[in-house]
Amino acid sequence: MKEEKARLRTRIPEGGMDYKGYNIAIHEFGHNVEQTISLHDAPYYLMNGVPNTAFTEALAFIFQERDLFLLDMKNENPVTEYLKTLDILWSVYEIMGVSMVDMQMWRWMYNNPYCSAEELKNATLEISKKVWNDYFAPVFGMEDQTILAIYSHMINSPMYLPNYALGHLIHFQLEEHFKTHPLAPEVERIFALGQLTPNEWMQKAVGKSLSNEPLLTAASEAIKHLN
Ligand SMILES: [Zn+2]
Repeated sequence: MKEEKARLRTRIPEGGMDYKGYNIAIHEFGHNVEQTISLHDAPYYLMNGVPNTAFTEALAFIFQERDLFLLDMKNENPVTEYLKTLDILWSVYEIMGVSMVDMQMWRWMYNNPYCSAEELKNATLEISKKVWNDYFAPVFGMEDQTILAIYSHMINSPMYLPNYALGHLIHFQLEEHFKTHPLAPEVERIFALGQLTPNEWMQKAVGKSLSNEPLLTAASEAIKHLN
């Protein structure tokens, strides 16, 4: 509610704040800014918020990435930018595999609502091997890996993992937008759009639909420059 204040939580060890605590604090700061703008500035109270969790993570990533900039420590080396793009591409590749296991596991459970824990475990391992063999084995050169089934919280937070994958894509599209638009006024405008459907929000935010295209283009560009 509007009377409540957004609160920021991070870990500060006894000796004082270290980089890890600071980096997390800036991520959480992004959530606070999103919560405040999307609550107070959305056109109607019932529209308050963002379309879903992926969108709040996107703004948190935008803040988190600027943590050193806030300390006047920004690295202007262009290679850093290319490496960052490849890092994002790699994270998305990994988390999309995990997300597909999450989705397929829930699909399996809908088809097998009376399964035992043992059956669910075995089905999840089979699903994770299938996703691995389809999308990861050709790159890594080894088959039947179950690493994509590592996240146990896909059971108690259903369909949360795809939020990270989509959050990274939204983040990347917003960053592209901020290259030609001023950050602060645009954050204020975009995060006041409220709980539209995801694609409508993207259209109003950056004038484009949610897409992996900008990330793939930037990654090919990065590889060309790093070679
Ligand atoms: Zn977060």
